[in-house]
Amino acid sequence: MSDERIKSETENNYTENTREGEERRKPRTFYKKKVCRFCTQKLKASYKEPDALKRFITERGKILPRRITGTCAKDQRKLATEIKRARSLALLPFVVNE
Ligand SMILES: [Zn+2]
Repeated sequence: MSDERIKSETENNYTENTREGEERRKPRTFYKKKVCRFCTQKLKASYKEPDALKRFITERGKILPRRITGTCAKDQRKLATEIKRARSLALLPFVVNE
């Protein structure tokens, strides 16, 4: 009986420790959890749809990083290629000079 008690106590300690570790990693500022729009909506980035691509570039014409848009690595790669294609076809700007 005593053996079991000790075992459960050590397990509890272990879970408490991991929980603490997770809490330390929590970001201080609140942010909305972002999900990849291409995966969730089953969309595909295409140079033929510059209006859709415009949501992933800044007003200066730069491609937004993954950490802002929440796009997954695979789709970000694809997206960047499609944006570059659209640029060379003059569907999207390379730079916007104000
Ligand atoms: Zn994705």
